[in-house]
Amino acid sequence: MKKQQKQQKNAICIKRMCKNSQEKLSKYAEKYSGITLISLVITIIILIILAGVSISLVLGENGLFTKAKNAAENYKEAAQNEQKMLDAIDQTIEIETENLPTIEEAITGGENFAKEENKKITDGKTIMWLPKGFTIVNPTEENTIKYDDKENPKIDEGIVVQDPQKNEFVWVPVVNINDMVYCQAHPTNGTVRYDENKNKLICSECGAEATPNFAGKLYASGTGNAFDGTKSNTTYQEGNGIREPDVVTSDDEKQENLKIVLENYADGNDANTFKTELQAEFNKMATSVGKYKGFYIGRYETSNLSYVATTYNDVSIGQVVQGASTIGGASWYKQYVSNKKIGNEYTNIATTSMIWGCQWDATMRWFLSCGGYKADFVKNSSNKGNYSGSVAITGSKTEYAVNNIYDMAGNVWDWTIEANRADSRILRGNRYDGSGSEGPVSIRGSETPLAQVGYDGSRSELYINL
Ligand SMILES: [Zn+2]
Repeated sequence: MKKQQKQQKNAICIKRMCKNSQEKLSKYAEKYSGITLISLVITIIILIILAGVSISLVLGENGLFTKAKNAAENYKEAAQNEQKMLDAIDQTIEIETENLPTIEEAITGGENFAKEENKKITDGKTIMWLPKGFTIVNPTEENTIKYDDKENPKIDEGIVVQDPQKNEFVWVPVVNINDMVYCQAHPTNGTVRYDENKNKLICSECGAEATPNFAGKLYASGTGNAFDGTKSNTTYQEGNGIREPDVVTSDDEKQENLKIVLENYADGNDANTFKTELQAEFNKMATSVGKYKGFYIGRYETSNLSYVATTYNDVSIGQVVQGASTIGGASWYKQYVSNKKIGNEYTNIATTSMIWGCQWDATMRWFLSCGGYKADFVKNSSNKGNYSGSVAITGSKTEYAVNNIYDMAGNVWDWTIEANRADSRILRGNRYDGSGSEGPVSIRGSETPLAQVGYDGSRSELYINL
């Protein structure tokens, strides 16, 4: 009790002395405008000593400030871990109580299984969604599909599905949407969550009524950086560094490029028109991933690209199939549109596009969470991609697939929608003459969107509409 009283007294004393000294110092400062910061600090320290409080109690490794800072950080980490645990429990309850159909049932059901509606299915551990009209490819009929037990495939092995046009995709689970996106207005203190009643993504800081703009959480601070699944970059600076969604104005403001990327191009459209469109697309994708807890990634690099198109309507419909060779050489603008058009026949059910940077990173984190050779692959892709020196057809070798997704490492660079600086778009996974150890599947490359070179291809993503 006595000790407490003494401390309180000291604290009051310090306050007073500091206040007095502040007044004195400002007077000094007026008089001698050359007063240094060092002398100010020394004065304050002397005042603290005079007040009878040990400096080590306040400053230093075990001081009050450090302890307070650590406590705040520990709390944040604990809260995040708790959220992860709650998400996992949430999913377990869903699986146990909803009596969901299994993956085997979906395979056996064939075309009839998801004929009428989107179907939620489970492998007993994780949940995935099969869009209406899609089928799960029967692994006993397709020898490129690898599961440990073909009778009992696991979502973490990469479940292969087909759309009605026979394009193939693999489901990537995203249990916590906060690992993938953040609110642009609250990059560090906001928590994102899907609200079932409002059917929208909500930021804790913006409030339930707001419709915030979201951004992709990118797991690197720039191009060429090694991938670290625990560090994410939440710096969104318009026109600067890596970020998404955004335009790269140096080329996105040119009319000939806008005519390709804007479906409803009109006179007066500029880079801002495209930016608004990209933001709306990103928000939709993010909301879908928050709602369905995952998305689909193209099983192969996108083929059937356009080379001579000058308008949106001229651009060809991309394909995601094995054995294709038209996978590079078109500008980013044309590849972006080809990827968007893959799902042209089912726009009321699902949406396709070129993959976003945060989706590529979500796939990397999925591989990391699978452990073993899949986790190693993220940092060293040697022997797990085409580095032969020349381009190969899509899905050329089963060794080049991880979780049944082909050629993410090597072959052609895969273009993404992620922006870099004011003049480039980000590509991932390196190319046929690269190195799987120095530039593995997680690596970021950067290129002007106008480049039309054989080693620059792209990859698609697909999400279920809200
Ligand atoms: Zn917010």
